[in-house]
Amino acid sequence: MDNKCPGCTAEVDANISLHCDACNRPMHYSCLALAADVAAACDRARRMSSHVKILCADCDNNFRSFVSHSGSIEEVFTEKLRNLIKEEYKELITDIKSLRSEVNVLKESNIDLVKLLTSGNGDVVATAKSLPLGKNSYASKVVVEKKIVVKPKNTAQSVTKTRSDVLKNVNIIEEEIAITKVKPVSSGGLIISCKDENCGKKLQQIASTSLAQNYDIREVNVLYPRVRVVGIPGGMSESPFLSYLKKQNPDLIS
Ligand SMILES: [Zn+2]
Ligand SMILES: [Zn+2]
Repeated sequence: MDNKCPGCTAEVDANISLHCDACNRPMHYSCLALAADVAAACDRARRMSSHVKILCADCDNNFRSFVSHSGSIEEVFTEKLRNLIKEEYKELITDIKSLRSEVNVLKESNIDLVKLLTSGNGDVVATAKSLPLGKNSYASKVVVEKKIVVKPKNTAQSVTKTRSDVLKNVNIIEEEIAITKVKPVSSGGLIISCKDENCGKKLQQIASTSLAQNYDIREVNVLYPRVRVVGIPGGMSESPFLSYLKKQNPDLIS
């Protein structure tokens, strides 16, 4: 800590000085033009009340110019608080905007889903393959990876063996196949997620030639969203149900 009096810049003996409440530097009684007993009284007063502060000339000047430039402490504080809230608010708005766009994407994909489920006359006609994916549908945004399932024909085989067979037979590095995730599934199988369509195709092609003897290799179908409706009275058939669905969700069904 700086042990020099801000008045005379000489070192100070603690016994003949008062310290500044802001910068903590010690000040000579003499540099404060205070008699020892008066200085001691000031010090006592400060210790007795938290409202009494002693400032050196530098700190006092700083404080005054701060207050005169920027209004009262209260105003300064309010201004700071206002800025803080403004910043937080901006972030919040950004979050809300991105949530809204996600909701819109979900809505659009819901429309696609309803289109899938219904035809003009309310019959179920479409299969997953003919789902008319909107350009902005949820599915079209999230489906990027290509997943390949490798399942041993011997269902008692361990996943470890499957894993090592794949590694032995598919030179992932040489073929530049970017794998994002490997997940074990039942009966010793593996789902291998590839970064994109290309990598997936390559993996499938190589595995299909080198591992075909002991493994079934296929791609995982793109997962289209599925809706399960429960609690329908037993007697209701499909067609009235779908027309209710349409009638009650007019904003979803075009
Ligand atoms: Zn001094
Ligand atoms: Zn000070």
